[in-house]
This record gives sequence, C-alpha cells and structure tokens, in this order.
Amino acid sequence: MNVHVLVPAAGSGSRIGGDTKKQYLELGDRPVLVQTLSRLAAITQIKAIHLIVPEADVAFCRSELVDRYRLEKVGGVIAGGDERQDSVRKGLEACGATSQDVILIHDGVRPFFPKDQIGPLVQLAAIEGAALLAIPAQDTIKEVFDGRVRSTLDRSLLWQIQTPQAFRCDRLREAHRRAHASGYLGTDDASLIEWCGWPVAVLSGHPHNIKITTPADLALARALLAAGEVSLT
Ligand code: C5P
Repeated sequence: MNVHVLVPAAGSGSRIGGDTKKQYLELGDRPVLVQTLSRLAAITQIKAIHLIVPEADVAFCRSELVDRYRLEKVGGVIAGGDERQDSVRKGLEACGATSQDVILIHDGVRPFFPKDQIGPLVQLAAIEGAALLAIPAQDTIKEVFDGRVRSTLDRSLLWQIQTPQAFRCDRLREAHRRAHASGYLGTDDASLIEWCGWPVAVLSGHPHNIKITTPADLALARALLAAGEVSLT
C-alpha cells in the first residue's frame, strides 16, 4: 500500500487581497505552499505528492516552486478544474495510485498540520475507507436565513473539519465518479463519501492547523511562528 498526496491549490486565492495569490505569499523564508509541500515531503510514508494548480500557473509552479525548492517528491503539477471537486478528480485521474493505495488530500494553505497524526490517519483510512482530522467547535453556530436566526445547532455535535483527509483510493474514485455523474457538488471530499452512504472516521486535529485564506490568517500564522507555537520542520 502506497500513500499519495493530492494538494488542490487551483482556486483563485482572491480572499487574501492584493496581487499575489494566497498560496504564493511568504511565510518564514518561502511561499506558504512550499512550506506545506516540504513538510509533507519529509514524511517517509508518503510516496508522491501531486500538486494541482490553475492551468495558467502550471509552468510557474513547476519552475519557481517545485524545481527551485527541490521538491523531489512532487511527481506532477496538474492543471485544476472549475470547482475544487473538479480539481481533485483531475488529480485522482493523473496520480497513478492503485485501488488499495491511500490518498491524502491536503489544503496547500495549511502548513501547520499535525505531523504525528498522519500515520494514524493513513492507518484508519486503510481500515475504514475514509478518515479526517477535526476539532470540536468552539463557537455557537446558528443557521441564519434572510438576516434572521432560524435555529441554533447543538454544539456538542459540531466539529470543525480540517485536512488532511485520507481515503482508500477505490472508495474515493468511486465517490467522485458517482458525484460527477449526478452533478452532486460537495465542499470537501469526505462529503462525497458521506453522500454515498459510506463511513468517515474522525481523528483529533489541532487548533493550530489553520487554513491561511485571509490577511488576518497570515498575520496569525506569522505570530504563531514568532512565538514558537508552531514549527515548519
Ligand atoms: O475555496 P476553498 O478555500 O474552499 O478552497 C479549498 C482548496 O481548494 C484551496 O486550496 C483551493 O486552491 C482549492 N481549489 C482548487 N480548484 C478550484 C477551487 C479551489 O483546487 N477550482
């Protein structure tokens, strides 16, 4: 059983503001995306990483990120699609994984993922078919419609979902095939597995595993680093 990683980074990245896409902004001495890829590459269990970027950025990412920072485990730089789900599907088609391999899907803008949870996550996915990292919700979450609160959800049941998410390749491919065939669009890959009626196991993530999508997130990431709360090795 081999472990492949797909890193979908083919979004517009426009929420961060400014001209540079969020994944190319600097954190420490290199782009956020490179920090994430380097930490993934250091995990011996991972055989190959496949980076999925906007079609117009493929050449730039190959020369300025993968070659320049010698990211040798990045086996392919793949052109993404219109929606995140299309990008992952294209990555799945191109990555060359076999049915019993485990696929990790990880946001390129989450450099602080808990390294010590990768082994257990892969193991759980191999047994259960799908597994993800999550932390209990800290805030009260309400459903709001048309400017008014509709209901308050039971916080004891709510978890914030992070990446990596891990899947046995046969399950993930079949879920994507079915979703694509019927036009179902999920906001993450686990939701496609759920939609198929298959189990998704949950493992503890870490509050520092933040997704850097706004200027405030980037400031927080830099502060966490400066305080020694997180490491990029
Ligand atoms: O928009 P959101 O933050 O949910 O996107 C999650 C991830 O999916 C981002 O890393 C983004 O670059 C990626 N994505 C993609 N292809 C798209 C849209 C988003 O790979 N068409």
